[in-house]
Amino acid sequence: MSYDDQNIFAKILRGEIPNKTVYEDDHVLAFEDIQPQAPVHVLVIPKGPYKSMNEFSAEASDAEIVAWVRAIGKVAEIVEAKEPGYRLIVNNGEDAIQEVPHLHIHVLGGRRLGRMLQ
Ligand code: C5P
Repeated sequence: MSYDDQNIFAKILRGEIPNKTVYEDDHVLAFEDIQPQAPVHVLVIPKGPYKSMNEFSAEASDAEIVAWVRAIGKVAEIVEAKEPGYRLIVNNGEDAIQEVPHLHIHVLGGRRLGRMLQ
């Protein structure tokens, strides 16, 4: 299925819906999750129209991929999660219950997180 440009993150990227930006550059936007699951809960998304890691890993330019990975590190620094630690999660596709069809990585931290992997 092709990219749905009416998804909520596409609207955020177009400025149609407000967001609490944590970090932004030419290729990436990072913003606070609207329903935080931890004191730190930031979503880092590429600005390009990538539904999931499937499309991103196959179609994104090297510059976009590098920018996304570097942005994750920058966000961890900005929210002061580097040393205490943080968790990164990508829900990718139906079995992972990906709700928003625009690739995003969750940066979770700010407290001791429970064990995961269900
Ligand atoms: O990985 P998944 O697709 O399930 O996560 C979507 C995330 O997007 C949720 O954590 C949800 O709270 C967040 N969200 C948001 N702002 C919106 C809609 C969803 O931060 N307007």
